[in-house]
Amino acid sequence: MTSVQPVLSYASGNLPQFIKDLSSFIRFESIGTDAKYKRQTAACANWLAGHLKKTGLEHVKVFQTEKHPVVYADWIRHPAKPTLLIYGHYDVQPVQPLKEWVRPPFVPSVEGKYIYGRGASDDKGQLFSHVKALESFLKTERQLPINVKCVFEGEEEMGSPNLEAFLHKHKNLLKADVAVLSDMAILSKEKPSLTYALRGSLSVELEVIGHGVDLHSGNFGGAVHNPLQALSEILAKLHDASGKIAIPGFYSAVKVYSQQERTYMARYGPKGKDILRDARAARGWGEEGYSIYERTTIRPALSINGIVGGYQGLGVKSVIPAKASAKLNFRLVPDQDPHDIEKLFRQYIKKITPDTVTTRVHANLYASAYELDVNHPVLKAGKFAYSKGFGVPPVLTRIGGTIPVLSLFEKELNIPSVLLGFGLPDDRIHAPNERFFLPNFMKGIHTCIWFMLALSKYRLPANSQKKGEAQYLT
Ligand SMILES: [Zn+2]
Repeated sequence: MTSVQPVLSYASGNLPQFIKDLSSFIRFESIGTDAKYKRQTAACANWLAGHLKKTGLEHVKVFQTEKHPVVYADWIRHPAKPTLLIYGHYDVQPVQPLKEWVRPPFVPSVEGKYIYGRGASDDKGQLFSHVKALESFLKTERQLPINVKCVFEGEEEMGSPNLEAFLHKHKNLLKADVAVLSDMAILSKEKPSLTYALRGSLSVELEVIGHGVDLHSGNFGGAVHNPLQALSEILAKLHDASGKIAIPGFYSAVKVYSQQERTYMARYGPKGKDILRDARAARGWGEEGYSIYERTTIRPALSINGIVGGYQGLGVKSVIPAKASAKLNFRLVPDQDPHDIEKLFRQYIKKITPDTVTTRVHANLYASAYELDVNHPVLKAGKFAYSKGFGVPPVLTRIGGTIPVLSLFEKELNIPSVLLGFGLPDDRIHAPNERFFLPNFMKGIHTCIWFMLALSKYRLPANSQKKGEAQYLT
């Protein structure tokens, strides 16, 4: 390749057409989670496949799954160069409450520097940043600087129920050196950020069963152990007074971070007061000895998401419910294994269940934490790409949330992932009047162009997943 300039110029010069194409993409009502939109979702997948073909990608295929199709395409012409797997999703969140939308959610409109519409940012606009970067190469240079495989799914907003099986089944087809996904926000317009670590997740439901039927609290109150009370007593034993999770062995696999890493986090990460302001919380809470940012990133957490039981209606009803339940969610950190944590949780619950009631535990959604070594070449490529695309180097951040697909790529394909987000915190994803900041669309396309170029210069290790401490900090 002689110069990247024509590729970048093609992208800049064709922005109006790119926005038109993105508008066509947004017009599909691809609400994957709602069965009513099955045909629209399939139509969206077919349209995307056609668009990839027009872009110049090869072996374009729409794979059927049990629910919504996966769109695949590739371009593999450089045996000695790395292969990049581009992941994205074309399904979108439901639009309710519809009356809060200023414009119809599936009639995209450009106003000021934004394009409005469901999916504009999450994830059609961000996914398209990659597609348009590919187009910019293919229409000017007639080639890509590396090999590329695209995997665009239609079930992300419902938890990707068929993705693991798909990755497993097509392991050979999907063989790659690194995955990239753009499905998240950066810190602000001026401040790109590169997420290199996320927490894992394990959700459990705890059921407490008392007696056979709901009872009158006058006739039986004081004589039987109320399951709601027993549940509360159990829940109260999940944390100790210092904010630590009280399950024996829970912290045994938790990675201990060096002072240098913690200093970097304190210097560049969000401040505790900002996190609390976002939470509209007057005071923080949690594990002693760790900052608020650390508590949400390098330390695990256990949250009670909901409690169900007894009478919830208007007025009074003197009842002792027959059973009660709670939904709980663990956020896990390196190197905790969600299956091990489930075992420890079950053992502990068994131990603290009073003999007046019985308990049942159902677990679901197992995702390990994800962490990429900051010295890993693919992360360096990401940093370089943002510096070029946005004109400023990104801040490296950890986030407390979970992207299950990252552990799937690690598990099924044994590859690291780079998270190149182009969204903004106020894109209103999942909410009415979703939008995408068009300058970020442009910068995102440029960032994707630079990312591919940077990767083409790297010789990636065979199994490039490497976990470790941030050595650059020393
Ligand atoms: Zn998304």
